[in-house]
Amino acid sequence: MRVSVTSTITSTAVADLLRGRSWVALTGAGMSTDSGIPDYRGPTSVRATPMQYSEFLGSAEAQQRYWARSYLGWRRIGRAEPNPGHRALADLEVAGLAGVITQNVDGLHSSAGSTHVINLHGDIAMVLCLDCGDHSARTELQRRLASANPELEQPLVPQHAELRPDGDAVARDWQQFRLVGCVQCGGRLKPDVVFFGESVPRSRVEAAYALMERAEILVVLGSSLTVMSGFRFVRHNAKRQRPVVIINRGATRGDEFASVKIDGGCSETLTELRKTLVG
Ligand SMILES: [Zn+2]
Repeated sequence: MRVSVTSTITSTAVADLLRGRSWVALTGAGMSTDSGIPDYRGPTSVRATPMQYSEFLGSAEAQQRYWARSYLGWRRIGRAEPNPGHRALADLEVAGLAGVITQNVDGLHSSAGSTHVINLHGDIAMVLCLDCGDHSARTELQRRLASANPELEQPLVPQHAELRPDGDAVARDWQQFRLVGCVQCGGRLKPDVVFFGESVPRSRVEAAYALMERAEILVVLGSSLTVMSGFRFVRHNAKRQRPVVIINRGATRGDEFASVKIDGGCSETLTELRKTLVG
């Protein structure tokens, strides 16, 4: 049982800071926990070791193992829906929110109606061919994998699968999994997400900084800021002496830079903020 320590006083302090100003949201895994996607760095984390990019590139076996797990995990991540926090954030566009930079790959901000979203770490609903660069829909690959692995249809979930936030799940029977290649060239497929050990594409980082240029305040939502790809934006705003607000359950690496810190959940806090700023 978790007790929320969000107080009306701190929510009001955030509302007072944001009112009449332009701001950008930086969101992390804590934003999506209420949609049933576990956070592996938060206080309730599942201690998981995600596959490193070099390992994925390194062998056909690693790719087979990754896709076997991911195939199973997709059944759950593919069904996830936006939570009240995502919806409140979309509504806050009328109250100065210039855009969302997200570390999440679940696409839930766009599903909730946010119009300006930078998917810093990519989009799990898309697949990239490492050999020809073709982009394709993950649902299509999922269909092809299902045809190639008909025996996997019933038994594996959830007994042999444990969901991870990136849509990866632990499967024991991956050696039997039949992988398919790119429809265009037969090449190696990779989910269009940034792996651990892989850098965020430069154009995306630049788009995020450009968005921050248009706003005064940075509001961090549900991220412990462990990963530099998000933390650098906090440092950037702080260096320019612009306010940083942090809303997260538990301590974050950026706490020392925060003008206001709320130790609480995204859904409750954003719903409160919408009530105050949008009505
Ligand atoms: Zn290809």
